[in-house]
Amino acid sequence: MNLKSFVRDINDFPKPGIVFKDITPLFNNAKALKTASEELVKLVNNHHVDKVVGMESRGFIFAPMLASQLNAGFVPVRKKGKLPYDTIGERYGLEYGTDELEIHVDAISPGERVLVHDDVLATGGTAAAVQKLIEKLGGEVVQCNFLITLEFLNGRDKLEGLEVASLMQY
Ligand code: IMP
Repeated sequence: MNLKSFVRDINDFPKPGIVFKDITPLFNNAKALKTASEELVKLVNNHHVDKVVGMESRGFIFAPMLASQLNAGFVPVRKKGKLPYDTIGERYGLEYGTDELEIHVDAISPGERVLVHDDVLATGGTAAAVQKLIEKLGGEVVQCNFLITLEFLNGRDKLEGLEVASLMQY
């Protein structure tokens, strides 16, 4: 099945000049959704995983499914101010300005093996911030996986030394 046929380009979203990869057609189609879920699990290969971290908000769509399939727990990373319990945060650069991501202090225990999942790897700033949060808590990132990697933005360079896997590359 060609999953790329369920991804559409939206010009000038969310800002003029940006070509946004819209993956909602993939979610909408029963067969594509099932195939993507199965293929994401296969990407993880033989890694033992204790926790799957998903990033707000499109990372929340597949990360809990991956966690369930891998017999791991699911950990949400959210934008500043959204998580109710004690958190640690990490600032990261955006095209204009900065933003901050947070994780609950008790979400990951030292030594736990962690899979990071998000829908799209673009510049890598988000995933690199998430890696720092996980490592601050003593976790070890065993893989970062994505539905899509936008290779021309070189996000992999920000995740040096980490295994990066994706279902679709552009
Ligand atoms: P990065 O920090 O530049 O790698 O951006 C990654 C974040 O932005 C992810 O959480 C994605 O959900 C989102 N993102 C960036 N570009 C796209 C896109 O073309 N389609 C969907 N999400 C995107």
